[in-house]
Amino acid sequence: MVEFDAIGVQSPNIAAAILKSGVLVNVDRAQIDGDEGWALLDVANADTEKFIAALTGKGVSIRIQKDAVTHNRTKCVDCGLCISICQKKVFSFDENWQLVVNSERCVLCGRCAMYCPHRALSIEK
Ligand code: SF4
Ligand code: SF4
Repeated sequence: MVEFDAIGVQSPNIAAAILKSGVLVNVDRAQIDGDEGWALLDVANADTEKFIAALTGKGVSIRIQKDAVTHNRTKCVDCGLCISICQKKVFSFDENWQLVVNSERCVLCGRCAMYCPHRALSIEK
């Protein structure tokens, strides 16, 4: 997750970091306006440090998004609705039909938390 302040939004920081590092990234989500903004980038684990070093600069703050999804095992009834809803394949069943959460792929859209009938999911803001 890259956040830009009023200075950070004035420069093509992501493009410059890609050119400087040679690391290819996928922009999963972004929202930028005149004063501030953020971008959620998908970067291969092996390239993360290299890319962060190239991106670090004025007006930019970076945090690694790993555990965005909180799954309340006590409330969950393993209905599987979230598996159908999530386009990033964060959810799956294990061999015992118990829900498994791989939250590294989450893009923070919030749909699963909104539709879970048992309020068993919450997403980091
Ligand atoms: S939708 Fe909610 S109750 Fe159903 S499997 Fe997902 S987390 Fe569990
Ligand atoms: S917030 Fe969106 S991307 Fe993340 S787990 Fe829920 S449905 Fe999937």
